[in-house]
Amino acid sequence: MAKIARIESGLYRIPLPQVLTDSTHGEMHAFELVTARVRDGDGADGVGYTFTVGRGGGAVLSVLRQEIAEIAANADADRIEFLWNKVWWETHYGGRGGPTVLALSAFDMALWDLKAKRAGLPLWRLIGGHDPRVPCYAGGIDLDLPLDALLRQTDDNLGRGFRAIKMKVGRARLAEDVERVRAMRGHLGDGFPLMLDANMRWTVAEAVRAARAFAPYDPVWLEEPIPPDDVAGHARVLAEGGLPIAAGENLRTLWDFRHLIASGGVSYPEPDVTNCGGVTAFMKVAPGRSVRPAGDLARRARRDGPLARRRAEPLVS
Ligand SMILES: [Mg+2]
Repeated sequence: MAKIARIESGLYRIPLPQVLTDSTHGEMHAFELVTARVRDGDGADGVGYTFTVGRGGGAVLSVLRQEIAEIAANADADRIEFLWNKVWWETHYGGRGGPTVLALSAFDMALWDLKAKRAGLPLWRLIGGHDPRVPCYAGGIDLDLPLDALLRQTDDNLGRGFRAIKMKVGRARLAEDVERVRAMRGHLGDGFPLMLDANMRWTVAEAVRAARAFAPYDPVWLEEPIPPDDVAGHARVLAEGGLPIAAGENLRTLWDFRHLIASGGVSYPEPDVTNCGGVTAFMKVAPGRSVRPAGDLARRARRDGPLARRRAEPLVS
């Protein structure tokens, strides 16, 4: 048994090479990276992290330094489920989502990293060992890129071996989105996996209209068409829009996922290990996504069009 000796945390501001925009977050000039390094009494350490798209990192750092460091002091680093619940409940009143769960995510990830290092195993094997290879897509924060720049970015990603592409939608006029999606589909060829991400831009009615307009271009999914809190709205968009729906990067608790999945409003739950509560929470959401989406992507990748066949590489590790 190794007790937690200390938690070292840091906040870094990472300037972006170019200002990025999506449909909701405004201009992003820098990302914030918050790190947590858990050291145990034997001198071993594990590292976790979370990030923001530009604001709130100081609050996350504060939770790590002022709350989690005290809650976890001298605790057995191996009792991750116990520690997760201890942090969750001791910060519950002012916590649950927001900076608190981002801090918990970084802390939990560090505990799992420490456990894996001590076991001499990669994390994927420690937590069950299904397959070290997963299908990956490439996507940028590219809503405002001119179309030719978007297609050049796509070519770069295809050249790097990605065999699925995600692009942003949610421009001022739906017709602009449709034109860009049509061009991307033509560029990629029929059957090549293409995902669309609206970053919560629309109302339910707008999302249904958009989904129907995108349907001829056969997207794998439409991501975050509406704000994450509108659970019933997701079910409507899925049922009336006719496209599979992906969501999860703005869900912050296991209950958020439970409600959305139970509503029938999400086809592809997307827990983000950096903000859903870390590896511990991710694993509890993952059974809903681990089999079907991977299978779907693999099937779609197998029936790639000529462009994809020429450029496709083995699964990215
Ligand atoms: Mg997204």
